[in-house]
Amino acid sequence: MLKGILKNQKIQLTLFAIASIASIIATWFLYRRLFRDGIGATGYFDDEGGLGDEITEDMAKYPTYGQQPVILDHFKISEFDSPDAPGSGNKMRVQFLMMYNAARNKAGIPFVINSGYRTTAHNIQVGGVPKSSHTRGWAADTKALTIDQQAAIVRAGREAGFTRFGIYKTFIHMDCDPAKKMNVAWYGKNTNVVAKGGDFVKAGFPFDPFTV
Ligand SMILES: [Zn+2]
Repeated sequence: MLKGILKNQKIQLTLFAIASIASIIATWFLYRRLFRDGIGATGYFDDEGGLGDEITEDMAKYPTYGQQPVILDHFKISEFDSPDAPGSGNKMRVQFLMMYNAARNKAGIPFVINSGYRTTAHNIQVGGVPKSSHTRGWAADTKALTIDQQAAIVRAGREAGFTRFGIYKTFIHMDCDPAKKMNVAWYGKNTNVVAKGGDFVKAGFPFDPFTV
């Protein structure tokens, strides 16, 4: 019976088609696992909530570290450099650095910066969104390997005034980019974007970034 079925050319073709589709789906899931879950080759993948620049503001009114250096308690400005451009940490915005510095003080745990400023080329290399806040000096990704670390960083960030959080398996993205929507968080695993007051648990987040 089974042999007879397998000899049927139509059935063979159907099975081949099913196998082909299954392998395409499997490849897509593997791609997502590696590059969409924030744990890709670079570990930096960060879609920043899938939100483009929706608000136009005059970026010239926000000074950079290079224009107006400030004292940082725990960081050298070079820690924010784009890896392909030594000294580019100078392009970080003063407002961001003050808040990030305050968050580090409140958290009381080391902040290892996975990614700070990014040149356009480096942003493409790590798979960042085209209008990434990193390319304008408004964001940093902080290494966080456990939910406790993730929660501690988000809590301290919120106390320091951040309202935009990307939660990933290996890091937390925080930015205060004035060109983007405030009071949102997104979860790397499924890239769900939820606004403050939303049901983060239902959306699969490990915690509610606005109440943790
Ligand atoms: Zn980021």
